[in-house]
Order: sequence, then structure tokens, then C-alpha cells
Amino acid sequence: MAANDHTTNGNAQPNEATPSPPKLKILIVGGSLAGLFAGVALKHHGYPTTLLERTPQNLLHNQGAGIVAGGDTLAFFARYDRTGKPVAVPSYKRIYLDRAGEVVHEEVNRQNMTSWDLCYYLLRANYDRVASAYLDDGGRLPEVRESDGEVTYCSGCTVTDVEDLGSQVLVHFTRLHPDGSETKESIEADLVIAADGPSSSIRAKFAPRVQRRYAGYCVIRGTVPELTATRAAREVFAERFCFFHAPGIQNLTYTIAGEHGTTQPGKRLLNFVWYANFAEGSAELETLMTDKHGRHRHITIPPGEMSEEAWAMVMRMGHERLPPQMAEMAAKSTEPFVQCITDVIAPKNLYMGDKVVLIGDALAGFRPHTVASTSQAAFNAMVLVEWLEGSAGRGDFVRQTMQFARAVQDMGVRMGDRSQFEELGIGEYIADRNFASIRREEREYPEWTLEGLGGI
Ligand SMILES: Cc1cc2nc3c(=O)[nH]c(=O)nc-3n(C[C@H](O)[C@H](O)[C@H](O)COP(=O)(O)OP(=O)(O)OC[C@H]3O[C@@H](n4cnc5c(N)ncnc54)[C@H](O)[C@@H]3O)c2cc1C
Repeated sequence: MAANDHTTNGNAQPNEATPSPPKLKILIVGGSLAGLFAGVALKHHGYPTTLLERTPQNLLHNQGAGIVAGGDTLAFFARYDRTGKPVAVPSYKRIYLDRAGEVVHEEVNRQNMTSWDLCYYLLRANYDRVASAYLDDGGRLPEVRESDGEVTYCSGCTVTDVEDLGSQVLVHFTRLHPDGSETKESIEADLVIAADGPSSSIRAKFAPRVQRRYAGYCVIRGTVPELTATRAAREVFAERFCFFHAPGIQNLTYTIAGEHGTTQPGKRLLNFVWYANFAEGSAELETLMTDKHGRHRHITIPPGEMSEEAWAMVMRMGHERLPPQMAEMAAKSTEPFVQCITDVIAPKNLYMGDKVVLIGDALAGFRPHTVASTSQAAFNAMVLVEWLEGSAGRGDFVRQTMQFARAVQDMGVRMGDRSQFEELGIGEYIADRNFASIRREEREYPEWTLEGLGGI
């Protein structure tokens, strides 16, 4: 086994007393949240999985971002988490500010906020028993169960192709070794789960015409330790989901867990999310997306990589256009980062005679206003396991996952475009947001969300 493999649980032998059919051998492409949701659920049900992640380090970089923990994210952790660590911080109210920073609307509405890194480390603890400080304050390294499937996490492995062998798939990948050398390798699997994100190369192989498209605006994000915020800012943001809308701007700020996932008051972070229009081809977009080394980036400027010029432009905009508490968040953020908002969705999620399945952002990259991307990844993993275990049929799997993907992707486009490119009254922003918060189980899906899926 190569040095960068981490097989932590090799005891998943079938129980001799009660023989059961052999479990499928499953390969997961992508070791971010969707890949790990799938890996954790499959391990729990006894499936042997190998996860290939192209990032050379054993751990992915903290994306420094808060995420809203939707119903399926919480349901996943309730069902599969064995660390016992709380994954979310509650927020009890939604409030809306005007440009002067005065509260113009408030409503009681419980929502759960988490962070990308807390979800990631809890999933790694559950998948391949990675110990970390995220397990402090009430978490533990999960016990090993005899019924668990064997797991192998391989970093530095970039999948380059998948080949149909009839009853199996041959997965080709390039492995980057710690000394910088590379080897070409391949693995056979019964099922391949493509969790390789919104720019999925596996989706590109099967649906080459599908492209990620820029939506005409970007999000500038960052976090601020809650105690470094002024009292005026803490008063509006603490345990609240706070919004501001103006033409071409949407800003939301909320409390998330602090370092290593601590939810202790005083040690948490205020997370700001600021959408701003930058026309395609404009000089402003060029400035924003050129990093501090002068390199143009297409989708993301990671934390700490914004140029001084871009930062000065953004600060100016914040000062001129945001309520003072939100402008303060932008000014106090030490490592802000930028993402271009894009749209992408695959026409279907099963390929190669059902031996390749797309999940998470590889299936559909939602606009963040939907606050549904992480939940989609968790939901896809849960329904996939139900199908493999026989409690749901193939048709149930396709219908549920595709209807959700199509409906939420479409809703995100309409909601984002209305918010960024139309001038609405505050009642309309509130109505859009409340519509996006409808639980998956309570949504009504239009007929078109089933079109072209064939045979389900
Ligand atoms: C800054 C930020 C903020 C977000 N905020 C929210 C939010 O508020 N609410 C919400 O619900 N969601 C949010 N999301 C989205 C959420 O994190 C993702 O939707 C979720 O993690 C599911 O993504 P994924 O695992 O499908 O894809 P990704 O996270 O993109 O992961 C894909 C993985 O596949 C790997 N990979 C790609 N190609 C290959 C290959 N060929 N071979 C091997 N590995 C490969 C990549 O290295 C990566 O690790 C946010 C995401 C980001 C980045």
C-alpha cells in the first residue's frame, strides 16, 4: 500500500454465522463533504469503499466558511454520526437591516448554522477515524464495529477516466507521491460515486455539453471572532440570521462555531456572506479575480489570496453601500475570500448502466441562496444507501434526487437573479427566503422535474 493511503479499519469480514450476499465494492471520487457523506453511510452498512481525493495533503484546507445546516444535513448526522459532537449552532431570529443599520423587520425562525470545517472533521472522524481538536468539548473518536465496511482514504489521487468493463468499472487515476513523482494506476469497482464537485470531470465525460456558467455576481466571504466585533454589531448578529438587500447587493451575517468547532459563546465566529454584481468582462471583475500574485483565477480567490487593489475596491464598496455593522465585518475580516456564483446541473445522475452515480455538486451546483448544497450531498448519500440496501428502488432514487436537484437549482437561479438584478420590496425578499426554507419533504415538485428521466 502506498504511503498516503490510510486504511484504518480492516476488520470487516462477513459474519460466518449469518452469511449475507457480498457487498458491492465501491469507489468514491472526491473527498469533500459529498464524498465523505457517502463514505460514512456506506461504511455503516458494511460496504468496502476506497476514496480517491486529488488534494495531495491528507486533510483538505478549511474553506473558512459558514454553512446553513439544512434538514438533511442534520438528519445525516443524527443517523450516522458516532462522535457525539454537536454539529450546529442555533439561530433563533431572522432580522433585516436598512442601509443605516436599523432593524426594519424581524421574525422568529430557528435555523441551524454550522461550518464547512466542522462538518468535514466530523465526517473524517466517522469515515477513517481522523482524530482532531474538533472532537474536543463533547466529541469522541468513533468506536470500530465489526459490521463496518473497510475504508481506504487515498490523497493525491486524481481520477482521469472511468472505463466500462461490463459488470465492473475500471477507474484510472494518477497518484502523486510525497517525493513529487507520479504513477498511473487503476482500480476495479462495482460502483463509482462521482462526488468530484461542480467542475466534475466524470460528469464532463458523460455530459460534455454541460458547462458551469457565471451568473453575473460574486460572493465575498469571511469570518470575524465575535469578541472583536463592536457591541453594535454583536447585538444584531449574535444567534441571529441577519440580512440586508439593496439593488445589486445582498449581505447576510450569522454566528457559526469558532476554532475547532467550539460553540462556546465568546469563542464563536461571525460569518459574513456578501453578494455583489460584477458584470462579465468588466474591469472590476478582472480586478476582483486577480490574486495577490497577479494570477487571474476563474472561480475562486482562496482565503488570504486577494490582492490589495481588489481589497481596497471591495472596502470602498462596503463603506458606500452596506449597513455599518456589515461594513465592519468586511473591514475586520483577516482572510476574506471570493467566489464567482455559477450555475450547473447534469441532465441525469446514473451512467454506464447504473455503475456510475453523480452526487452533490457534481450533480447540481446550486446558488448559495438556496442554502441546500450540503443538504443535497447528505440527502443523495442517504437515498443511495437506501437503494443499495433495498429499502428504496432505483426509480425512487432517481426520482427523489433528480426532482430535488432540478427544482432547487431552478429556484436558486430565479431567487438569485431577482435579488441581484431586480429591485424588490422587502416583503418580496422575505417571501423568497421563506420559500427557500421550505423543508424538502414539504416541497411540491412541478411535473417538468421528471421530464426525460425515462423508465422510473
Ligand atoms: C466557500 C463555500 C461556502 C459554502 N456555503 C454553503 C452554504 O452556506 N450552505 C450550503 O448548503 N452549502 C454551502 N457550500 C457548498 C457546500 O460546501 C458543498 O455543496 C458541499 O461541500 C458539497 O460539495 P461536494 O463535496 O459535492 O463538492 P466539493 O466540495 O467541490 O468537493 C469536490 C472534491 O472532489 C475533489 N476532486 C475533484 N476532481 C477530482 C478528481 N478528478 N479526482 C479526485 N478528486 C477530485 C476535489 O478536490 C474536492 O475535494 C459552500 C461551499 C463553499 C466552497
